[in-house]
Order: sequence, then C-alpha cells, then structure tokens
Amino acid sequence: MLRQLLRLWDFDASAYLALYPDLFRTGNATWRQALKHWFFNGRKEGRIFPLRSDPKALRSHPGRIIIDVTTTCNLTCGDCNRFCHIPQLRSEIHLTPAQVEHFVRECRETGRQWDLIRLEGGEATLNPHFPEILVILSRAREDLFPQGEVMLISNGVAEKTKRLCQELPEWVTLFDSGKADLPPDYHQAMTVAPCDMENLQDHDFSRGCALPAIYGLGLTPHGYYPHPICGAIDRALGLNLGLKHLPQDDYADLQACRDSLCRVCGWYLYMGIDLPMNRNLGEMESEQGHSKSWEEIIANSHEKITRLTPY
Ligand code: SF4
Ligand code: SF4
Repeated sequence: MLRQLLRLWDFDASAYLALYPDLFRTGNATWRQALKHWFFNGRKEGRIFPLRSDPKALRSHPGRIIIDVTTTCNLTCGDCNRFCHIPQLRSEIHLTPAQVEHFVRECRETGRQWDLIRLEGGEATLNPHFPEILVILSRAREDLFPQGEVMLISNGVAEKTKRLCQELPEWVTLFDSGKADLPPDYHQAMTVAPCDMENLQDHDFSRGCALPAIYGLGLTPHGYYPHPICGAIDRALGLNLGLKHLPQDDYADLQACRDSLCRVCGWYLYMGIDLPMNRNLGEMESEQGHSKSWEEIIANSHEKITRLTPY
C-alpha cells in the first residue's frame, strides 16, 4: 500500500470508475470520492490502483481471450451487444475449423498461453463445426491452456444446444447466460453513440473501455479486436479492422480499432476510460432508441459486412 500512497496524486480516478462502473452508481463521482473508495474498500476487495502515468492496468488482460465462434443467434435480446436484435445487422458467419487451427498454430509459434478462453457468439453452439472446434482445442490443451479454463457461454435455448451442453467434455465449463428469461431492457444501450452526445463532441476515445482489461482479447471470424463487441461494430461499419494475426502488443496493435469504433459504441458510455468523472454527457439526438449516428449506420449497413475479410 505504501507504493500507492506515494503515488497518490497520480491516481487515475476516471479509469478506476471505468473499471468498476458499480461505483459511480453508488455515488462516487469525483477524484476524491474514487480515491477514498479505493482506500477504505477497494484495496481490501482487490480492486486495482490505476495510475495516470502508467496505463498498463488498462491494457488487455494477457491471459484471457473471448472467441466469438459465430455471429448468429436464435434470440433477439434487446440491445444485444453483437447486434443480433437488429435485422439489418444480423449475419450468419461461423468461425471455421481451419481458423481455429490457425489460432492454435499462432499461439504455439508465439508461446502464447491462456488462463481463460471464453467461447461466445451469437450462440456458440449454432456453429455447425462446434464439436470439431472442441476437438481441436482439446488436442492443443497442453500448449494453449495447460492450467487454464475453457468456458462456453450459451443461452441454452435450442434443443441442439441443450444436447451439446450435456455432452461437453469435463474440461469445458458451461455458463448458462439465462438470456431467454431476462427482461428486454437488461442490457446496456448499444446503439447510442457517444459521439452524438453534446458534451462528448471533442472527446478523445483513444483509450477505449475497460472491457479488454477484464476479459482480454477478442477473436472473431474476421480477426482480433480489443473485444468482440468491437468486431460487431466493425461488421456494421464495414471497416475491416480485425487484425489477421495474433497481436504482439495487445494494446498498441489494436489502436486503429479504438480510434474508429469506440466513438459509436454504446458500451463506451458505461465503461469508457476517459468519460467525464461526473458522467455529465449532455443531450443526445435519438430516434427509435438509436442515436443519429446509428440511424445512419443501420440505414447504410447493406452489404458492409461483405467488406470484412476472414481471419
Ligand atoms: S443470447 Fe446473447 S448473442 Fe443472442 S441475442 Fe441474446 S444477447 Fe445477443
Ligand atoms: S468499441 Fe466498444 S467495446 Fe470496443 S474498445 Fe471501444 S468502447 Fe470498448
């Protein structure tokens, strides 16, 4: 603790609130309040002490990765952060066994190992190659995640999904997201672009949000992103920003994604690292739940997804 106290004035309170959005909701909205929270509660709860001069705490978690094995889903939850609920943005693209083999090869070549690999989507089990993907990962266990965990996140709805979940090997943990039973307004609004907010017109989005620091890298059928949500936004915009090889530096190599995608990402308004401390974001132009930028993105999304090249 002495080390932190010596660097008290360098405490990045904005990043602290981004990493732990529950704190803002419980009344911590100033630098002093955030620091006080860390001192009396956060340090005992194992919360980190981010420094303005040292952004490492906000870099992608080195041992974690989320792999979106498909873009399709059989539900249309309100504000799905992969946009499965918006007909114009829905797609059905599956990660192929060849792409998983490529991922394994890249990890072996670079010596990259994982503490936690999360298999997500869409609904991951709707990938017709899902059993084959597990076989490929199983063969690579010793190299990729010798002590690590593989977790399948599933909505558990379809009969096929239920059957596959019952047949999972013992090294895969199942997390039932329970999405079928959630209220429609459960999710963070995704199609509200921070750049449409009055007070964020000149905002610097380049540090992105806190999701990568918690969940690590994202891999989609179109490449690596700071998080798979970024990949879903890239599909909507057709920018093809997914990195086609494992980054050497998970933060610097994905800067282009943060520069282009965070400004329209609704998640930024929840966990954006450089949001104003008091979260005073100003007025927003909104129609049908989508802000102005998203109205345009959705209207112009036709065939944009086809501009993305595969991983
Ligand atoms: S189950 Fe998940 S991926 Fe499917 S629509 Fe709901 S939030 Fe989106
Ligand atoms: S696009 Fe969204 S999810 Fe991705 S880094 Fe930016 S704010 Fe986070």
